[in-house]
Amino acid sequence: MTHTGNVVGNANGYGVIDCTECGFIHMDPVPGSAELDRVYAEEYYRDEKPLFIERVMEDLDWWRSVYDDRLDFLESRLGDGRRSILDIGSGPGYFLKRGMERGWSALGIEPSRQASAHAMTLGVEVINGFFNKETASGIKRRFDALHISEVLEHVPEPGALLRTAAGLLSDGGVICCVVPNDFSPVQKVLTDRLGFAPYWLAPPHHINYFSFESLSALLERSGFRVIKRTSMFPIDLFLLMGDNYVGNDSLGRECHARRKRLDLLLNEPGLAGFKKDMYELMARHGIGREMVIYGVKA
Ligand SMILES: [Zn+2]
Repeated sequence: MTHTGNVVGNANGYGVIDCTECGFIHMDPVPGSAELDRVYAEEYYRDEKPLFIERVMEDLDWWRSVYDDRLDFLESRLGDGRRSILDIGSGPGYFLKRGMERGWSALGIEPSRQASAHAMTLGVEVINGFFNKETASGIKRRFDALHISEVLEHVPEPGALLRTAAGLLSDGGVICCVVPNDFSPVQKVLTDRLGFAPYWLAPPHHINYFSFESLSALLERSGFRVIKRTSMFPIDLFLLMGDNYVGNDSLGRECHARRKRLDLLLNEPGLAGFKKDMYELMARHGIGREMVIYGVKA
């Protein structure tokens, strides 16, 4: 497949284009799968994200509330009795563990040995490997829901992955797709008005860069009908407010702690409806550091 489009960025020696053929922004050239196999099977959690599992455990109260929001929506949409889920890129397993606590039957698939080993210690069933046509054909079950979080930005062919995933969903099943929201309106203010470099560019780990529109369009072309778009807290608002956490990990953790505190307090009974509306409104304006998009199997 040829990829053509305007160059919209450069980082780590790689170019990034707004691809006409794909309809979303991605690295050019797109890296091969042999290189990626090595990175994600062995190196990613060890070198690139050495603190990741530790920090998920530290942030567990907050993650649990994030997962509860997603499971609440899936359960309300699916109705009673439909409670099986496949998590593609299940990481250390806490999303599925939360699902199991709520009565879901769960399966994860995860290329990182460290992360999948961690998930198994939680009692979560995980296939340690990449999700592709071959591994999908070995999965004989069909699922009521799919969760695919922080995956599509890393893979060379996100549309092919989504089509394969759609094949594992039962009729009327729902996908929950989470990816970073890049080249967002907030980031445009940061680069165009405040002189920030495009800090969100992370090739070769992040191959693809989505917006609400480009991810929705990709889902619609790949076997799904989009039914809901919401977002996660726009942590980059701290940059607008003058807290420059880019390249400053301790300030980044401080900003993250404040957003966790806010998210958890927004769960208070008197504010819970506001939280849901606020994040859906943000999504309508293209705001939010991560996008959460739900679709039903078309
Ligand atoms: Zn392309």
